[in-house]
Amino acid sequence: MRAAVLESARQVVVAEVPDPVPDGDVLLRMRAVGLCGSDLHTWRGHHPFRKPPVVLGHEGAGEVVASSDPGFAVGDRVAVLPALSCWKCARCEAGHPHLCAGKRVPGGGWPGMLSEYFAAPGRVLVPLADGVGYDEGALVEPLAVAWHCTWGVEAGSSVAVLGGGPIGSLVAAVSRIRGASTVLVSDVKPYNRSFLAGQGVPHVVDPSDVDLPTAGAAITGGGFDVVVIASGHPSCLAEALALTRPRGRVVLLPMFAGPLTVDLNPAVLKETTIQGSTIYTPADFHQAARLVNDRVLDVRPYLTETFAFDRTPEVLEAMDSGIDHLKLQIDPTR
Ligand SMILES: [Zn+2]
Ligand SMILES: [Zn+2]
Repeated sequence: MRAAVLESARQVVVAEVPDPVPDGDVLLRMRAVGLCGSDLHTWRGHHPFRKPPVVLGHEGAGEVVASSDPGFAVGDRVAVLPALSCWKCARCEAGHPHLCAGKRVPGGGWPGMLSEYFAAPGRVLVPLADGVGYDEGALVEPLAVAWHCTWGVEAGSSVAVLGGGPIGSLVAAVSRIRGASTVLVSDVKPYNRSFLAGQGVPHVVDPSDVDLPTAGAAITGGGFDVVVIASGHPSCLAEALALTRPRGRVVLLPMFAGPLTVDLNPAVLKETTIQGSTIYTPADFHQAARLVNDRVLDVRPYLTETFAFDRTPEVLEAMDSGIDHLKLQIDPTR
């Protein structure tokens, strides 16, 4: 079969690789695979554990073409939860299998999904509803990231999101679904701002144009309950600390390119909680799938473009050069 193999940093080829051996699992023909910031980190050679040579891709949906799991039949359409936890360790038993030290993920102990075929155990497959496309199915994964990082956002909450790209825009959408009454997104890119405004996000600002803490204080009166950092820009943490209300919470989502230097005194004086967020629990993933399957959130506008498999190298180069986009996907059957 063909797979998008990162051979060395910035060198990806769509090449022949051995077919996966299902071995009691379900064999999928991949129909849509999203590319995201962490694929780009991997492509640049910066990812902490996804190192070349590696098959890229972890946001996928596909069609069952063989199954030895009685829960799945040929022709079923599914999204894939891309994490295999051990389900035995203290973290797994505490209900945090996404923090399992022994977990395997695509590109880390499990092949990537940007391939014609992909084998997975039935327990990580989530059916897609009739009429919901594979492209929507492949958006369940980033939506699950957004769902997980907004825990604690409840009716009436105020949420600021720094960075309105593919993840930040989904964080804003999910915050509103969770009942946030005030949502602000800041992004320097006009493309992202006009997309967010088109999605009805109430406050969309250009941080190079306004003083963010002043703008935030004018909107909330006393700062945001939750500020989600969805941009790797080094100034984000200081901005987030300034935007948060006393006893508010800052959530860190991106992988930063290096150590940050930041004045933490505002966090001391406001008793700010600074919390990391990584992937999602299976419950989060299933909740994201429900939002997509029931079209509580129509994710189709978040898909900017789908490309044929052979174009994967140029799509990654275009993402690296900063082209305007929300989600870009590859269709491995094309
Ligand atoms: Zn991703
Ligand atoms: Zn575990």
